[in-house]
Amino acid sequence: MSAILSRINVDYDQPIMAGPGTAASCSTHHAWARVPVEPSPSERAALKERIRSLLKAKNAVMVSHYYVHPDLQDLAEETGGIVSDSLEMARFGRDHAAQTLVVSGVRFMGETAKILSPEKRVLMPDLDATCSLDLGCPIDEFSTFCDAHPDRAVVVYANTSAAVKARADWVVTSSCALDIVRALKEQGQKILWAPDRHLGGYIQRETGADMVMWNGACIVHDEFKAFELQALMKEHPLAKVLVHPESPVDVVALADAVGSTSAILKAAREMDAPEFIVATDNGMMHKLRTLNPGKIFIEAPTAGNSATCKSCAHCPWMAMNGLAGLAQVLETGMNEVHIDPALGLRARLPIDRMLAFTAALKNGQPRAGLVPNIGAA
Ligand code: SF4
Repeated sequence: MSAILSRINVDYDQPIMAGPGTAASCSTHHAWARVPVEPSPSERAALKERIRSLLKAKNAVMVSHYYVHPDLQDLAEETGGIVSDSLEMARFGRDHAAQTLVVSGVRFMGETAKILSPEKRVLMPDLDATCSLDLGCPIDEFSTFCDAHPDRAVVVYANTSAAVKARADWVVTSSCALDIVRALKEQGQKILWAPDRHLGGYIQRETGADMVMWNGACIVHDEFKAFELQALMKEHPLAKVLVHPESPVDVVALADAVGSTSAILKAAREMDAPEFIVATDNGMMHKLRTLNPGKIFIEAPTAGNSATCKSCAHCPWMAMNGLAGLAQVLETGMNEVHIDPALGLRARLPIDRMLAFTAALKNGQPRAGLVPNIGAA
């Protein structure tokens, strides 16, 4: 096991159910994360070399998220894997010929890979890497919430457990949520949304859909502060502001562009500005800077005079992914993701719907014909 630098305590929001149909206020729950030691330059080079040869020997491919350590992003691309958002991670893992997927990210990403590729072996550097949205949406309470709204299409964010996905009609990621909810609304469907309250609120404002919401939050994006962001914008008057929609509404309101990690990358590439202020996990800075060497990227503020940051714009669970852990799982086969096959089959349906929807959208096919009427399903 890799050496442990620190064990971090992490507070997150869990909705308090005011009744079966209402996830009203929140209580604070506690979790933890452990972050591996940063290797020395010589250790880093040796670990990378070891991982390269293990990937070949084990017929394995790396699937990394934009928020993990730059080493794990670069290595994925150098070895024929991918660094991407969770939608592309799911698609890539499903379609790649390798028999072993090594997913660097958080637990729900490994679970989604396993659900889509039950015949493959899915390994993760640390199986305890979780997510406040997943933790804050336990299946029993969520099921009660769904039972209280039987007339609504259940749309859940990918950042949920396999059990919550299995209870859903649709799984979405931040890169396709808007299109899918809009299509459901066009069909006259009402939505039950979970778990991120900020992303849900953004989609509701953009689409006008009839939505009831779970009251969860991402501990990273929830911390961005509008007042401090305005001050930073005054210091950088030429900067464009790029915001992930898991951020609070007053932060989203200041954005020049709002969208998923992929949408933020696209906006940074296409917008003609010398500087960008970015409100998302600072793991994204690596890709933004690599792809746009002539542009300056500044982190949006997560704390001001009145508060100290908790996540400080970096997910403690994404930080649990390291080179040593990755080498070890490839060598030993430990940290394999397992999903009960029956649960996996049920959870796969709403994920497949999302992938079919986004594939059709990409090919310019009309959305309406593709969206099943959930009320009749
Ligand atoms: S950044 Fe937020 S949404 Fe992403 S894994 Fe971490 S806690 Fe979850």
